[in-house]
Amino acid sequence: MDFLIEILNKQARLFPIVITVDDANKRKRDFDILPALALLEKTSDPKNIWCVTCHNEDVEVHHVSKDRAYTMCTQNEHAKRDYFNPAEIQQWQFNIENFLSAFQKSMDILSPTISESIDSLLWSLGTQTINGADYHLFFCRDINDIEKPKLSIITHLPRSAVFYTGTPQISLPDKVLLVPIIDLFQKITEKGLFLKKEAVEQFFSRNTYATEDGSIMLDDNLALEKGYLLSDQSTRGVFKKTSEEKLPPLACIIIEHLYGIRKYSQNSKTLSELVTDLGHSKQVISKEIKRISNVCKKNNLPEILHKYTGNKWGINHRLKYSE
Ligand SMILES: [Zn+2]
Repeated sequence: MDFLIEILNKQARLFPIVITVDDANKRKRDFDILPALALLEKTSDPKNIWCVTCHNEDVEVHHVSKDRAYTMCTQNEHAKRDYFNPAEIQQWQFNIENFLSAFQKSMDILSPTISESIDSLLWSLGTQTINGADYHLFFCRDINDIEKPKLSIITHLPRSAVFYTGTPQISLPDKVLLVPIIDLFQKITEKGLFLKKEAVEQFFSRNTYATEDGSIMLDDNLALEKGYLLSDQSTRGVFKKTSEEKLPPLACIIIEHLYGIRKYSQNSKTLSELVTDLGHSKQVISKEIKRISNVCKKNNLPEILHKYTGNKWGINHRLKYSE
């Protein structure tokens, strides 16, 4: 496990990563598993190798002849050329795609997908359901390396989660869930990668309620989803609580109707106007308005509707949703 973590930490800085025979020998036990899972693959004629002088960088291989090549350390100014026989050097390359598919299996993702969104930097793992909510999943080698305009690949989606290596230093909108991938690992065996269930739960909490297309975001902490009021948003579109009582269709229609006009000059309506718009009697509409208020009170939620001057009903101006 430690060896895989070390590789992942290194590859946040360098890509692609190579592991020399020396590296491998030092981590014998760990090492045997990685090629077995095809996470490491032998490379012939590597273009870059790990610097033998400083052991801290990837350096370019310069070929002199068939059996003679050298590298040159760039961090030590007194360094001389490090000569070696390219035929004798054995190196492995970390296969990130195979790692990502092993990772998706460990997440119990039934139909794993991988596509490279930004060359050698960002991979899309598709939209997947985790603990009842849909997330668009990404893996990012080093999120600080993503150019600003390209961040929209992640941020334009309604709900995305980015598994990352390295240390993110950029700020992303709240709706993006950042998950340090290494923190999820439990162990790696010939059977594959295993995750700490409790760490996964911590990021993708269970017993949550997710909004879908067509749900009404009344507030950053309040949504109307198929008749239920969802509150206490943990990540974008994922709520921790739901009202026990389901609002009848007419109550939902009233909320939806008033929500739809909230941005216009006529942002509240009298009962008579609602009667005309919705085709129900005053008593029936009043009863539903009362019911909405009761459900809010019972669930400790802010009032959704507010009676404005002139006995006009509208969406409570205190509800704010940051789009
Ligand atoms: Zn060096």
